[in-house]
Formats: sequence, C-alpha cells, structure tokens
Amino acid sequence: SIIFLNGAYVRAEDARISPFDRGFTFGEGVYEVCIAVNGNFVDAPAHLARLDRSLAACGIAAPPERAELHSIMKELLQKNDVRTGLVYLQVTSGMSSRNFTACPEGRPTLMMLTQASDFEQTPAFRDGIHVQLQEDIRWLHRDIKTTMLLPQVMAKRNALANGVSDTLFYDALGITEGASSNVFLVDGHGTLVTRPLSNLLLAGCTRERILELAQEAGFVIDERPIQRAELATAAECFVTSATYLVAPVLSVDGRAIADGKAGQVTRRLQHLYCAYIAGEGRA
Ligand code: PMP
Repeated sequence: SIIFLNGAYVRAEDARISPFDRGFTFGEGVYEVCIAVNGNFVDAPAHLARLDRSLAACGIAAPPERAELHSIMKELLQKNDVRTGLVYLQVTSGMSSRNFTACPEGRPTLMMLTQASDFEQTPAFRDGIHVQLQEDIRWLHRDIKTTMLLPQVMAKRNALANGVSDTLFYDALGITEGASSNVFLVDGHGTLVTRPLSNLLLAGCTRERILELAQEAGFVIDERPIQRAELATAAECFVTSATYLVAPVLSVDGRAIADGKAGQVTRRLQHLYCAYIAGEGRA
C-alpha cells in the first residue's frame, strides 16, 4: 500500500521513521481517523478542526502540509484504490535527542495511511456488540486525541479475552465513553442520554453529528452522565465513532439491554446517519 510520509507518497515497506521520533520515544503524537464512503469523506472539516485542537493542546507544531490535508487525504485514497474505507492521519512533534523537554529539530512527522472497510456491513453495525465495563483509569485529558493508546489497547484486549468485543469506561459520575467510541442510552421515555463534553471524554465527531440529526428528528436530548445502574433499565444503548458509525449495544457485563436486540431508536439513527453520509455529509 501507499502511505503519505512527510511530503511524499511512498510504498509502506519503503517508509522510514527515525528511532528518535518523539512519537516513538515519548508518545508525543496526535491522530485522526476519517472515513470515506464512495469516495467522499464524512465530516472531514470536523476531524481536521479536532486535529488542530489536539496539536495546539500538546504544543505540537502544525505540519507544513496542514492547508492541503484534505486534498492529500483524497489523493491517498485514490492512489490505494479505496472508495470506502478510512484515512488514518498521525502527527508527532518530530525528532530530538531522548530528552523530555528538547525541542524537536526539523519538521513534525506527518504520516497518513488508508484501510478499505465497508462500515455499514460490519457485524457491529448490523448485529450490535456485547461490551464490558471497566473503571476509567486513563489520564484527565481525554479530550486530546493522542496516540498514547495503551489503556485502550489493554481494555480492548481484555474485552476479547472475556468473550465480548469492547469495553466501556466509567468514573465516579457514570459512563465516560467507550475505549474508542462515545456512548448513548435511550431511556424509557425515548430520551437520548449522553455524557456532556469535558476534559473527561473525546468530543466525537460522530457524537456531534448524531446529536444534530436526532435533534432535527425531534428526539429529546439530555446531556448528562449515564449512571451504571441505568443500564439495567435502559430501553436501548449504542456507541458512536467514525468506524462504528452507530452500533447497537446488546449487553453489558453479560446483562442484556432490554430484550437484548438492537432497538428502534438506534436503528432509526443508523438510518439517518447513513442517509446523511450518502448525501450532505460528503466532502
Ligand atoms: N472516544 C474515543 C476514546 C475514541 O477513540 C473515539 C474514536 N476516535 C471516539 C470517542 C469517537 O470519536 P469519532 O466519532 O470522532 O470517531
């Protein structure tokens, strides 16, 4: 496959990144995952705006290609013959001696790759997922989309070891988010509940779009933390992310949500989101 690295399209097997890259030694990097459907990106401006916020929060300089990122993303998809799939984009601060506070010499490292995937045909989207809960032991800047993902990798591996497909995190106030998604609950009155934005969770681009589509469709929305105990009485639960789109949550820690089947509201929002993707979502 072809990747984009520091200004050039290169074959992945020919790509070289320095052992002194601070993304490697210190985890000093941020990333984005933006999907394309039939050659069109979904909410690319929101993903690039979040990239800018992540870079600024970490004090990482914007890569010199910043203004052309959207067209580079498009060209990379074309070079790899991907029409429906994702673009992964990573920026690290660049190279320095192995010294915490050394200023990087030279440019920030920018790497982009693509992966083909049909998001509307995944088992998660079609059938739903079973999840487990874990205490959220991550740091307190979860609003920054950093490549420092060891807690998420451990939580997802642990989920698989326990026979479920993902982990949802909670803190003293309730569910924070999934290991790579935002969490919504539908209560007995059909109200959509999701945690308000703060430093304790990532501002999902899909979360934002779903809230807008749900509001337009007339749903009542309550942005407040979801209590763990509420899962026992919830009518529905689902997660959102660029790659999950909207995925029904069927059970949590072995206990079914309602009748253990994907709910009507979840199916409706899946439908609205896919219509959005096929229409005005593209860019
Ligand atoms: N929370 C976390 C921790 C994530 O990793 C992701 C996926 N990037 C999300 C939420 C969902 O964000 P988005 O909808 O922008 O993909």
